[in-house]
Amino acid sequence: MSSSSLPKEHKVWLLKTRPSDSSTPNEFELITRPTPTIDDLQKGQVLIKNTSFGNDPAQRVWMDGSIDPRRLYVPPILKGQPVRASAMGTVVLSKSDVWKEGDKVYSEGDWAEYSVVQDSGPLTGKEIHIKGQSEYITNSILGLTGQTAWVGVFKEMELKPEHVLVVSGAAGAVGSTVIQIAKKVIGVKTIIGIAGGKEKCDWVKSIGADDCVDYKDSEYPEHLKTLLPDYADRFFDNVGGEILDTMLTLVKRHGHVTVCGAISGYNGEGLTLKHWGEIIYNRITIKGMLILDHASALDQAVSDLTRWVSDGTISNTESETVVEGKFEDIPKIYNRLFSGQNKGKLITKLIDV
Ligand code: NAP
Repeated sequence: MSSSSLPKEHKVWLLKTRPSDSSTPNEFELITRPTPTIDDLQKGQVLIKNTSFGNDPAQRVWMDGSIDPRRLYVPPILKGQPVRASAMGTVVLSKSDVWKEGDKVYSEGDWAEYSVVQDSGPLTGKEIHIKGQSEYITNSILGLTGQTAWVGVFKEMELKPEHVLVVSGAAGAVGSTVIQIAKKVIGVKTIIGIAGGKEKCDWVKSIGADDCVDYKDSEYPEHLKTLLPDYADRFFDNVGGEILDTMLTLVKRHGHVTVCGAISGYNGEGLTLKHWGEIIYNRITIKGMLILDHASALDQAVSDLTRWVSDGTISNTESETVVEGKFEDIPKIYNRLFSGQNKGKLITKLIDV
């Protein structure tokens, strides 16, 4: 495609203010910016016309604008910058040796109609298609989501068939994939999910959990206790806060907590732990994990996940919530993550492209 056939300007969402305590903050600003031409691209770069975005709670963490170098596992999104997001789209201009015009690719782009991206990186690649599976699979079970789950199961928790596993955020993108791998690939003895509401809990059981506890029921700590007479060997935590605090009382002596996420604190509420002493009394290991630490293993992760989906071991069916919207709707759809309006990966599909 020649630069002249592209629009001279296109729309972009910028970060306007840092996240607040509100779950629906008006923190983004819609602007237009000039569309790059082929001369604006450097070697290895392409211009992508975005057609869908993955919504990741971590984007909120990047938006908090921290400049503490100890927290910078990826660069922060600063006020006035485009909101970074995983995206799928079509290459429309290329100065890359590996991606050509017309290729459908998955990359770290931004909330923009057109994004300039580099053709390499741990979380970029050409779209993968599997017969009968969703067109967004490269940005869900085969993308950051599935790869995080794979790393959590094999590299961090080292799950074994004899383990009792508890997963919070169990109906979310990563949590639901951890449950599927744990049950259908490893054959873990007992899996208990924690999720918000009966409908989600029913779904969590349908994908492999032996039981699921609704944390919106005030008696959920008692329900968990009843389901864990011998306590949990492993707790895979996506949520933090009160759920983590409760689980500290229910992890087995010498058990492990793998801290993948802490979404309950991403809008500024912070974490309160009352049961810290349990870590000492029960010699619990608590370890944070980050997918980027496992970059060299991610090809293996994608290969395993692709095989398991292709042969039906795990399923992508229903493990995506695809919301169609106009470019203007992107922030509103993103905020669904914080009010629990997704099962599996939340995908924004642009309808005006
Ligand atoms: P997700 O679980 O799909 O996130 C949305 C879900 O979180 C919602 O549907 C909601 O489910 C739950 N939620 C939202 N606010 C909550 C709150 N205040 N308390 C309890 N639950 C709440 O997102 P994901 O992409 O799978 O990511 C899961 C976690 O993993 C996130 O914290 C993310 O930051 C983290 N992550 C970490 C890495 C890493 O390398 N460490 C990589 C990817 C993701 P309910 O309806 O059940 O409440």
